[in-house]
Amino acid sequence: MERLTSRLQDAWIDGAAPHASLVDAVSGQAVAEASSNGLDLGAALAFARTVGGPSLRALTFAQRGALLKSLSGVLHARRDELVDLSRANYGSTRGDAKFDVDGASATLAYYASVGAKLGDRTVLLDGDAEAIGRSARFVGQHVLVPRQGVALHINAFNFPAWGMAEKLAVSLLAGVPALVKPATATALVTWRVVQLWDEAALLPPGAVSLLCGSAGDLLDHLAPQDVIAFTGSSDTGRTIRSHAKVIALGIPVNVEADSLNASVLGPDVEPGEPTFEMFVSDMVRDLTQKAGQKCTAIRRVFVPTDLLEPVREALADHFERVVVGDPDARETSVGPVSTAVQLRDVNRGVDALASHFDELIAAKGDLPEAGFFVRPRVFVTDLGADAPYVHEHEVFGPVATVLTWDGDADAAVAMVAKGGGGLVASVYSDDESWAGRVVLGLAPWHGRIHWGSKKVADQSPGPGTVLPNLVHGGPGKAGGGEELGGVRGMRFYQQRTAIQADRTLLERVLGPSL
Ligand code: NAP
Repeated sequence: MERLTSRLQDAWIDGAAPHASLVDAVSGQAVAEASSNGLDLGAALAFARTVGGPSLRALTFAQRGALLKSLSGVLHARRDELVDLSRANYGSTRGDAKFDVDGASATLAYYASVGAKLGDRTVLLDGDAEAIGRSARFVGQHVLVPRQGVALHINAFNFPAWGMAEKLAVSLLAGVPALVKPATATALVTWRVVQLWDEAALLPPGAVSLLCGSAGDLLDHLAPQDVIAFTGSSDTGRTIRSHAKVIALGIPVNVEADSLNASVLGPDVEPGEPTFEMFVSDMVRDLTQKAGQKCTAIRRVFVPTDLLEPVREALADHFERVVVGDPDARETSVGPVSTAVQLRDVNRGVDALASHFDELIAAKGDLPEAGFFVRPRVFVTDLGADAPYVHEHEVFGPVATVLTWDGDADAAVAMVAKGGGGLVASVYSDDESWAGRVVLGLAPWHGRIHWGSKKVADQSPGPGTVLPNLVHGGPGKAGGGEELGGVRGMRFYQQRTAIQADRTLLERVLGPSL
């Protein structure tokens, strides 16, 4: 059995007994263990701040970009090994494991290219210098400088590689060291990735620390320039935000939490058209990929009442090919959910949905007796905005609910907004005026809107794929956070400071581009 040690103060160290078990989601058997008991987390954070921070800040953006490129290259070169580990712990199908590992290397590579474009500078200007005195000489200029603390990256269980990489890419490019705390239950891949980076001697000491096991007293050791980027449940997000040290020091906390992502089918869309096919395949992909355990997966599907039967027929066609079971079997399309706790929570959610709504469709076939398997299912209701449970609770598995309505654009926006804010919503329509109202009506409630139309039907990755150049995060229930989104993604790790000074003096310090 693998013992997951932590990488702190430039050394691999083990916590004291008892260790928590990481289990294989297919067999339910323990495959690894981890403990953070007794580790000196205060010293670990201080090391990251005082050793990792200065060495990262000494690098130009181009040099930090080159570092990210090397990290990405290691992931790519060791992809097969990481895919096997993802299967051993998470129970991933090969396709799901590759999605995680490739998403990680692509995100690091994207931010490597951002660093290359930013070039030899170490400070970013934000906007132009503005005259603030009687003459043009006295100006105000906003600059973006790296915070001098450490970023705590507290990650969810569902993307052990990508979840880490999407935070690290931005943080390291901004010049801020990170302490990565993966969800214990699925930390095997994260641990191995950091080990591979360490073996390749790519990371300056203290630039990336890794804590395997529970967070312990980590937050008690926060210092004023630190930040926290968190992904996981709303409850844990609230606990972190309300921690006494976080409040006392005004620590910025970026939260990505539960999200009741919606998909809206326009009344103009004809069954069989590319836009209709896109709507159905995006929905089925989100139900089946990673057994529905994507923070961006579609949970609520709004279908005009007239289109319910064609949608049901199209889903039935797709569901014929859905096979739940052994992730090693070639025909399997849906593996297990990742832990016994997730299985319990998903089954509770399914029971709640079943107590309120009819079932529209479910995958056929027997489920394996061992392991954490769930049957993909879709429920249906005509209660719209008044439907119970579905607008409040995220069932984090291969489950969605179809809500029928009369196709009115404003009513669609109001129903989707009942979810209280989400990461992504998708709208499928070729009717410009109808879709424009829905897209712009949904925009304040989401970090990203996916408008599916016949013009992009052949080139869309769907709403469920997080793209590094676009915002990932969402208002309200989704946590109010914002990650990624190109160069602006670094804002969370930077201080925006206005400098009032003589233009010539400032140009000498910042370069002549004022
Ligand atoms: P979680 O229980 O909130 O855990 C997330 C992370 O927080 C883990 O690394 C966990 O560590 C850590 N943690 C727990 N308590 C903490 C504390 N008091 N202080 C600091 N860190 C703490 O979430 P999860 O189990 O990964 O997922 C549960 C639910 O979150 C899912 O069912 C889903 O609804 C939601 N989720 C949302 C997203 C999203 O982006 N929207 C993504 C994934 C999951 P340990 O593992 O060591 O406890």
